[in-house]
Amino acid sequence: MSGPAVRVDRTLCCGSGSCEVMAPGLFRVGDDGFAVFRPPAAGAWDAQLLEDVARCCPTGAITVHGTDEGSAR
Ligand code: SF4
Repeated sequence: MSGPAVRVDRTLCCGSGSCEVMAPGLFRVGDDGFAVFRPPAAGAWDAQLLEDVARCCPTGAITVHGTDEGSAR
């Protein structure tokens, strides 16, 4: 089974870096100032962490779909 679908909307991301601080193994703010999601190895998904990061994004740029609890947003 594949993991949740995670998307960072670059039109909303302000490069705050909160996602990278909360989950440095999953998100990274690139040189262009936008966050990118880096999928973990198969079976290493932490759905709760993904949902927490999405909720803490100050601009609502992160969406998570496909966790057991459903959409995080
Ligand atoms: S927390 Fe949200 S606004 Fe901040 S870098 Fe990550 S995706 Fe962008």
